[in-house]
Amino acid sequence: MSDTTLRRIIAALNSAPTPYHAVATMVSTLVKKGFTELDEGDNWQLTAGGRYYVIRDFSSIIAFTVPEVGLADITPLRLVAAHTDSPALKIKPTPLKEKKKHLLWDVAVYGSPIISTWFDRDLSLAGLVGYTDGSDTIKYQLLDFKRPISRLANLAIHLNKETNKGYSPQLHDELNPFFSSEKTKNAPEKQFDKLLLDELVASGCGKGKAKNIDIMDWDLAFYDTQPAALCGFANEWLAGARLDNLLSCFSGLEALCEGGKNNTLSMLACFDHEEVGSQSATGAAGNFIESTLHRLLPNQETFSRSMAQSRMLSVDNAHAYHPNHPSRQDDNNSPTMGDGIVLKYNSNQRYTTNAISGSWLQGLCKKHGIPTQKFSVRADMPCGSTIGPILTANLGISAIDIGIPTWAMHSIRETAGSNDIKSLVELLTRFYDR
Ligand SMILES: [Zn+2]
Repeated sequence: MSDTTLRRIIAALNSAPTPYHAVATMVSTLVKKGFTELDEGDNWQLTAGGRYYVIRDFSSIIAFTVPEVGLADITPLRLVAAHTDSPALKIKPTPLKEKKKHLLWDVAVYGSPIISTWFDRDLSLAGLVGYTDGSDTIKYQLLDFKRPISRLANLAIHLNKETNKGYSPQLHDELNPFFSSEKTKNAPEKQFDKLLLDELVASGCGKGKAKNIDIMDWDLAFYDTQPAALCGFANEWLAGARLDNLLSCFSGLEALCEGGKNNTLSMLACFDHEEVGSQSATGAAGNFIESTLHRLLPNQETFSRSMAQSRMLSVDNAHAYHPNHPSRQDDNNSPTMGDGIVLKYNSNQRYTTNAISGSWLQGLCKKHGIPTQKFSVRADMPCGSTIGPILTANLGISAIDIGIPTWAMHSIRETAGSNDIKSLVELLTRFYDR
């Protein structure tokens, strides 16, 4: 992979503060690469060698390339699966409250962020808004305020001498990003409506006038405006937000656009809601992927026989060895930053890799000189999981859980290895070529 590819991935990360923006970013690349949008509500007419994508609720996407021989017979699937969402602070349905002349944002914690990392950052707000502008038709607009409109200030150490022993904020009362410290004439709900209306008009909605717009609903979350950037003496690290799991989504996208020139069905599926259990219409436990595959493969016999010959890579970040915390890791099974793709193992099936699928992937990596390492959690610690087990159980497809080593997963600013990202793009491209 060239440095240009890495730069493209960094640019994509910086344009994707929410799952909606991640999907929109992927769509803009797919369209440039000759992919056509399919609507789940339409009759699909697919052609041999065609390239397509379908989205659900603007936050999950499945993109695929049809083999040159078409889809009339058994077609092995090469599926890369990842997730578009990341832990975040989402604003509540009634989002503002007042405390001694200060307006504060009321937020809900989405997933499991490292909450302390959200303090003293330059926070902006982004997401999706539904509105009408004179007719009954509801329109949807992605919004991104881009500028740092809010902040969550720490309490000075003078007012909490114990803070360095570990501060655990009370989530309802102490995790309220500041809207403004200026006295306001408007009621809080009017302030918020005005903010959204102004931003919608600035985005070109409502024929340029706020009075034409009636806001229906929204899903907006805070994010850190500091862009992703290479760091380390040799630029060996990439630091940024939402590396888990947008690095996998955008690496998969690079691979799908370049690879897939053979007789398999090459597919990239990126789902929302992994961080909260995947149980939704857009989540991996929903029927999005099964519904899509059943429309591509002509009948149950073809579907079952195709799945039996298929492979899935469930791609999600892995914990890199942290030299300051050796006691939290299994010395013999801890991957190190920069040393290649991590194969994840868990005997209790929290990851999908087994001796059969792992052997297949090791063979592919050895053939192409792609470095690999293995991860297993300490025997006395619980293990995380991925969308891999959900998808392999539902589809009956042979799967491997992989990822690239990452520090500070779920921090507002995570770190991964530049060379590992290159290895991932290389592996996914080779995977689609098989
Ligand atoms: Zn993840």
